[in-house]
Amino acid sequence: MTAETLCIGTEILLGNIVNTNAAYLAAEYAKLGISSYYQTVVGDNAERIKECVSTALGRSDLLVISGGLGPTQDDITKEVVSEMLGRKMNIDETSLKNIKLFFDRRGKKMSANNKRQAMIPEGARIIDNNNGLAPGVLINLSGKEAAKFGKSAKDAPMILMLPGPPAELTAMWESQVAGILQKYTGQVIYSAMVKVCGRAESEVAEILDDLISSKSEVTVAPYAKTGEVHLRITASAEDEKSAKKLVKPLVKEIKNRLGDSVYTTQEETSLEQAVVELLLANELTVTTAESCTGGLIAGRLINVPGVSEIFKSGYITYSNKAKRKIIGVKRKSLEKYGAVSAQVVKEMAEGAAFYSKADVAVAVSGIAGPDGGTPEKPVGLVYIAVNVCGQVTVKDYHFNGNRAKVRNSAVASALILMRQCILEYYSRLTFGDKVNE
Ligand code: ATP
Ligand code: MG
Repeated sequence: MTAETLCIGTEILLGNIVNTNAAYLAAEYAKLGISSYYQTVVGDNAERIKECVSTALGRSDLLVISGGLGPTQDDITKEVVSEMLGRKMNIDETSLKNIKLFFDRRGKKMSANNKRQAMIPEGARIIDNNNGLAPGVLINLSGKEAAKFGKSAKDAPMILMLPGPPAELTAMWESQVAGILQKYTGQVIYSAMVKVCGRAESEVAEILDDLISSKSEVTVAPYAKTGEVHLRITASAEDEKSAKKLVKPLVKEIKNRLGDSVYTTQEETSLEQAVVELLLANELTVTTAESCTGGLIAGRLINVPGVSEIFKSGYITYSNKAKRKIIGVKRKSLEKYGAVSAQVVKEMAEGAAFYSKADVAVAVSGIAGPDGGTPEKPVGLVYIAVNVCGQVTVKDYHFNGNRAKVRNSAVASALILMRQCILEYYSRLTFGDKVNE
């Protein structure tokens, strides 16, 4: 089954609102094992909406439309679709009763426009809206209607229309639509998550190319996050046990291929949580010394409940003076190499560990921009150092984007480097033990 999303609203085209509905729906299709190849945004214009609907129905099994079900004159979704299909619109008495009740409860009078929201295309299935006034609508096209869009009766597409407000759309999807679609796909869907850090999406895609492009019943879909790639592995089968059996070997294969860069296979586990768990498991206390990230790394670590056992204090040392006075960076190093340098970030990681008595210290210094860059040290250059029990690793990074993006990339990279250094520290120890035996 293939689905595509059409979001209606001039305010989305103008950039006044962010199209979160498209992102939400895309993730929901993936969960249901439904493939999706297109997302479109169109303004509140009947002709252009028709053009988009027509194209979508010709190439997808399900068209999900968001927005334009409200009471105002620019809310025309149902009218346009009904006209295209040649279906009449009738008042749905239950929906009308619900709308009237809504106004009665608030002691207000219902306007004629609100009555429009209870108008439903003939033969459509209603999706109740418990958080707003406009009900959703699901239409299974007849063979004759399908032919208008170049489809046979067997491949007749469906149109689902949902209101634009995200709280209404998501609640309707979760309470009703997901269940309906699961029945259409005739299958039980099971999916697993593999979260990868420290590798670019393109690199992950190359390593897993055969699995991602495979046409087998198990799909592997990568999603890029800052510093991370999440892989959703989904299979559909007649029952959950069979679907799980299809997914499991793939998760194992992905873990084999990506090795240590897989930090979890738990949907709810975040990168910072994985790092904190690693620290807790090895009874390592941790501290941070941050310049351009200004406390964001500490913030991410403190997101994790239970971190108090291992995180006692962190330092925000933004100025050179603070770097010297608080965590003991040498004046000579600052003068000779500059604050953004491998040497200074190394001294920050050493000083922070020394003054806080932590086992692990992570330090960051970089040029987040927009000013402060030079040809030798451009905006986006960030040095990160990790000190694990006295062994310090320093790496330089070159991030793209604005100040916020550079800072967020630095935070993710710091967490990733921390994890990597701790793993390497213990793998060296284990190796050493074996040699000694
Ligand atoms: P309403 O009854 O509120 O008018 P509607 O179904 O007509 O509902 P729209 O008028 O298109 O929906 O949008 C209403 C509001 O919902 C928008 O102002 C916006 O805040 C939000 N919204 C609409 N579409 C999207 C979208 N694609 N992503 C996120 N939010 C959206
Ligand atoms: Mg509206």
